[in-house]
Amino acid sequence: MITVHMIGNAHLDPIWLWRKEDGVDAVLATTRSACDRLDEYPEFIFTCSTSWYHRQVEMLAPALWDRVRRFVAQGRWQLVGGMVVQPDCNLPSAESFDKQLELGQRYFERAFGRRTSVGYNVDSFGHTAWLPQRLRRAGIDAYCFMRPGPHEMDLPADFFRWQSPDGSEVTAFRIGSPYCYAATDLRAHIERAVQFLPPGVEHAMCFYGVGDHGGGPTKEQIEWLLANGGDPLGGGSVRAIFSHPRAAFDALAKQNVTLPLVAGELQHHAVGCYSVERRIKLSMRFAEGRLMQAQQAADWLAPNDDGLQADLDDAWESLCFNQFHDILGGTCLWNASTLATGELIAAGAKANDALTAVTRRAMGDLSKPGEHRIVAANPADREFTGFLTHEPWVRHGAEALDFQLFDEQGQPVPTQTQDPSYMVCSTQLLFPLTIPARSRRVLELRMTPKRDAGVSPALDVPLDQSTEVKESTSQPDAGKMPASREAPALDAPQGLLRIDGDTFAAGDVRLIVGERDLRINDWRLRLDVVDDPTDTWSHSAGNRFADETLGAFAWSQTAVANNGPLRADVRSLGQFDRSLAWCRAMVHKDSDALSILLRVTWAQARQRLCLRLIPPSPIRERTDLVSGGPLSRNLNGCEYPLGGGMIVRCGAGGLTLAAPDVFSANATPEAVTLTLLRSPLVAHHDPFDPARRPDHPVTDQGSHEFHLTLWPTATLTPPQLIRHVDQHLMPPVVWDAT
Ligand SMILES: [Zn+2]
Repeated sequence: MITVHMIGNAHLDPIWLWRKEDGVDAVLATTRSACDRLDEYPEFIFTCSTSWYHRQVEMLAPALWDRVRRFVAQGRWQLVGGMVVQPDCNLPSAESFDKQLELGQRYFERAFGRRTSVGYNVDSFGHTAWLPQRLRRAGIDAYCFMRPGPHEMDLPADFFRWQSPDGSEVTAFRIGSPYCYAATDLRAHIERAVQFLPPGVEHAMCFYGVGDHGGGPTKEQIEWLLANGGDPLGGGSVRAIFSHPRAAFDALAKQNVTLPLVAGELQHHAVGCYSVERRIKLSMRFAEGRLMQAQQAADWLAPNDDGLQADLDDAWESLCFNQFHDILGGTCLWNASTLATGELIAAGAKANDALTAVTRRAMGDLSKPGEHRIVAANPADREFTGFLTHEPWVRHGAEALDFQLFDEQGQPVPTQTQDPSYMVCSTQLLFPLTIPARSRRVLELRMTPKRDAGVSPALDVPLDQSTEVKESTSQPDAGKMPASREAPALDAPQGLLRIDGDTFAAGDVRLIVGERDLRINDWRLRLDVVDDPTDTWSHSAGNRFADETLGAFAWSQTAVANNGPLRADVRSLGQFDRSLAWCRAMVHKDSDALSILLRVTWAQARQRLCLRLIPPSPIRERTDLVSGGPLSRNLNGCEYPLGGGMIVRCGAGGLTLAAPDVFSANATPEAVTLTLLRSPLVAHHDPFDPARRPDHPVTDQGSHEFHLTLWPTATLTPPQLIRHVDQHLMPPVVWDAT
């Protein structure tokens, strides 16, 4: 006899094709409906996830809230999930998953006096390999999900042991037939639920109820179950009972059956969601970085400040809410996405304020009259080593001054000045520094009149003035060769760059800017534009994008923008159709890395911007950084979410890539392709014909910045790469103490 546990639920997206306020209304309506059904049918059990959902009822409808609490105490309102929302399960960092679980479980504990041990993200678009590890740490040993579905990923059975790379396991259940089910006759739905059970397992789960915009089980469904639950399929081999996930997992455990093992990530679904709506993803990453660093600073400098922790938790709560699967997945209405972006930036800004307050409160007495001091604090629990930039506030006349930093022992710190982020006055200092974990350095800045006032350390020497940007032209002529380049006579013998024709070299790094590609040592980099007629989710793409390249950006106006003793920059202007890209390639002293800052003004619609990295010999192996840690992946051309960078091996060497603001990539032996931008119509779902709405908003047009670091001569270890990415997202806090 197989027992089918009928899971009455109402999937409710707080934001999707409706506004957040509509989501709140749907929460109240759904809760009222579920409570009415619980009153009417003593057998009925309702399953409900997320702290955000319950918090709305608590805040807005006290009488309804009392009813919910009563049903929770009776065990008929079952709490699952244990997170703030059902988040996107690919892009949030491990720290964010921990916070989702900490805040969600803490709320359940406070509001209901209990936690949940069942994870529950039934609509999220795929799951990072490290999620079982994070779930287990939060006391969760079972997990319900639906995507990827059976047509998207083969799994041995609906129940299986799901394992992270570190060996952490949860018992997982894939909902084989949708979590939303509105029909009254549940027979076909139950039939499907018993089809993919592991051998020997006599329990299944079947989710029913109106959903997506809330709703829940209908009276008709409940009455159908009351009438037919004893033998829903005929033949007497199956029974369907009102139940909930914990009961199903417990019944399964009692059977003592060894379930099949599935190790690693659960992919793919809606591969376009890994990259679309970059403003949301970027704002999320900004907020995560600020919050993690503010938390580090609070732990270090203000461990007993409960008010500060409450402020940070408020900001985390907002961040966690906006990691909701349709928000972070980039599939919401335009206005809803705009509001979510604002909330994410506000959460990051609040953390930034906290970071400023904590560091200044603890180190505000470091000024010394007559000295211009610069403080650099490292709240991280590991040493910082690298270059820092700082723009000291200096009144007018900075261009006539030399700047030199000195350390605590009065020894000079190598210092380079370069263009500041504003266009008049002052300067930007660049200097190498080591700061131990949870520590600070105090440097002294001395300013003296420039000795050789005629020579600027930042050179700006155009190499090719014959190539001017043409306005709104079609793709430039592919057969045209770049104009010849002559090495400029640089009056900067201390500069890092060696220049020979169109080759710029520093240390072991060699850069050549061609018309169609950048060559970095033996690797070629090309900025390609690819046709992309898919909808916002890329539903029609399956697990990989079609690759119909329309053309590559053409480069011109290559110039040395900076050639100092610590850093040298080469810049170039790229153009494709109506889109432009300024590329600045930078080398640092004693480093074998090349940093790239790409500033793109993107004007394309229903096209993709891809950065291709083409190796000198076929790629053999690939390790990606994903949420939670490193992960080996296939070179199969499938699109995958990316969480910071990639390490690839080919020939005798390889390449390491840090790409903290790129969220999606694919790789084959022939190339790594980073999906930088996608521009489908906003919330466009097949089969709607976009030609009917030519003025509908397009995602991700406008200005974007990308920061990449490439090590073309070495492969870093994953911990080394993670450290570099962390240092980029959470650089030491630097300020003037004057
Ligand atoms: Zn959903």
